[in-house]
Amino acid sequence: MNKRAIVLRYHEVALKGANRGWFEERLAINARKLVARAAKIQGEGPDSPGKVEVTRQHGRILLHIECDASVRQSMKRLFGISSASPIRFVPTDKEALLAAAFEEVRDYMALHGTPKSFRVLTKRSDKALPETSIELDHFIGGNLKEAFPEIAVDLENPEMILGLEIRRGESFIWTEKIPGPGGLPVGTNARILALLSGGIDSPVAAIQILKRGSPVSYVHFHGAPFVGEDVLEKIEDLVRVVNRYQPDPEPLQIVPFGKLQEQIALVTNPKMRTVLYRRMMIRIACRLARTIGAHALATGESLGQVASQTVENIAAVDSAADLPILRPLITYDKDDIIVAARKCETFDISIRPGIDCCTLFADRHPSLRTTHALVQEQESRFDVNGLMEQALASVETRRVR
Ligand code: ATP
Ligand code: MG
Repeated sequence: MNKRAIVLRYHEVALKGANRGWFEERLAINARKLVARAAKIQGEGPDSPGKVEVTRQHGRILLHIECDASVRQSMKRLFGISSASPIRFVPTDKEALLAAAFEEVRDYMALHGTPKSFRVLTKRSDKALPETSIELDHFIGGNLKEAFPEIAVDLENPEMILGLEIRRGESFIWTEKIPGPGGLPVGTNARILALLSGGIDSPVAAIQILKRGSPVSYVHFHGAPFVGEDVLEKIEDLVRVVNRYQPDPEPLQIVPFGKLQEQIALVTNPKMRTVLYRRMMIRIACRLARTIGAHALATGESLGQVASQTVENIAAVDSAADLPILRPLITYDKDDIIVAARKCETFDISIRPGIDCCTLFADRHPSLRTTHALVQEQESRFDVNGLMEQALASVETRRVR
């Protein structure tokens, strides 16, 4: 059997001019780390990132590893790639290519059965062979057609594509194309601190941020002692899933929030409390963000989804922040978020029971139209800075692997 590897494809337009080398480097490192972790989680394959060999040749990234189920899964979480294919290497020689094509087609049929139709798609990255790409398509395709007359040739919509990439010395051959998630390699943008509530929306928002190249760290505001420890287990499980999308797992910071809410509830209007709590969360999160080198916050808010997410209330929350708040789901319908959450594998964790601290001591029908003056008046009734410092003094950091 020939030597094997996985080739990663990416949209070159996303990798701009002079930055290209840097983007590719990042993608190569991320690929190595994600694959190594995925393989380890399943108890198979290499047990340290260094053991997966990654090479870059002719604008391609190659992972030198067998493509098993866990590796295949990790390709779907590797932001920056458009697709990946397990390939075999073949000496650049017409007869060797033909022999490898037969092997590749037999392997395909062993896995998927006989395809109804096929085509050969040759790319010649340099003129290593005298034949043109089309001549090679005809040569390999014609021989396959003769050996498997039951498989039709279909150039438009074939069930199986046999890909050939002809290069000097050694060429690639493949039949499987694993769709990638697109986006940009994580680490090509600045770190963001995601507010994770344990609901459906916030983990999806965190993954959307990762897709744009920013590493994501996490903070959860915990309603202890009025909310149990079991919520934290759920948050940790969510962090574990989101962390699979980034090369280096980031920690979760837990802010005890119940006592602070109780203090605020003693002196404020119940209809205003949701926004007041949210403003405290944002202030604390901005401080935490600075300590970990994060340049913005991210939340799972969506416009109008619940009473606290009207434009007026979002404005009231924003004015407590001294960093940008990114809201990747702002225009999403709940149904779209659920579809995304299922795809990201966070949904089943998010729907486990658990109380979010936002509902503690708050009116079931919060004010829809908070104004600056109202917020100021309410916040003059308690010690904003004192409560913030108290909460910050008891933050717990957990590493979630
Ligand atoms: P989610 O499904 O993410 O809980 P939601 O639709 O329930 O969102 P809210 O409860 O209003 O909406 O929360 C809006 C956003 O505020 C959340 O997406 C999250 O980013 C943040 N948030 C809310 N509660 C907490 C919390 N206890 N800890 C951290 N962040 C929180
Ligand atoms: Mg919630």
